[in-house]
Amino acid sequence: MILDTARFSIEFLFPASCPLCGSRVSTNGELCADCWAAFNWISAPRCVKCGYPFPANLDLGAAPLCPNCASGDCVLDLIRSACVYDAASRAAVLPFKHAGRIRYSTFMSRAMIWALRDTNISPDVVMPVPLAYRRLFHRGYNQSTLLARPIARALDVPMDLDSVHRIYRPDMGHKSASQRAENIRGVFQVVCPDKIRGRKILLVDDVMTTGATFAELHRVLMRAGAAAVYGVTFCRVAHAI
Ligand SMILES: [Zn+2]
Ligand SMILES: [Zn+2]
Repeated sequence: MILDTARFSIEFLFPASCPLCGSRVSTNGELCADCWAAFNWISAPRCVKCGYPFPANLDLGAAPLCPNCASGDCVLDLIRSACVYDAASRAAVLPFKHAGRIRYSTFMSRAMIWALRDTNISPDVVMPVPLAYRRLFHRGYNQSTLLARPIARALDVPMDLDSVHRIYRPDMGHKSASQRAENIRGVFQVVCPDKIRGRKILLVDDVMTTGATFAELHRVLMRAGAAAVYGVTFCRVAHAI
């Protein structure tokens, strides 16, 4: 009763608002209907392995694969993303990552949990993509950790924040897929292999561009004896392939 009264008072004094536009919503952290509709949320049909979205009218059977996965280019066991990287998701991700809008993590992580709902993965641990210490120092937070925490809670598994370190390299900018892969090679170091060996690991990131970051993490984690590596991101670049 006291808790109910306290909650009522808090909601009366600080009514729940959409984190993007500030309009009234029923639950704190949720998007209003208009902001929700602006995103290009990914649902079936999509690649069963990497989650690449297919046009709605494309019928590739019950377990469709994109050309990349069909040719074995995707090394992770499974990847899902909540939405496509476009003007709407960019307008949320950039302030989330660079301007301290950490409250966006609530709706982003909820959408990522939703994106994983029809997979049958059972990770042992959730690992946010590590940030180099120099970036963490300047930014003050790892945006992937903010997304990973509610996901780990929803899956009821622990987070691993310290088994892998990342060394600092200057920003990748708008480089080609091969340049990105080259730039990221060797930046991750497994420092606690005992916590990796035999584990099924779910990697969490805000954006998937070419998949080079996930692929490089997959390489070092498998070399350290991981049993499986999955990935989930809030949004992904989805150029025609
Ligand atoms: Zn809104
Ligand atoms: Zn695919």
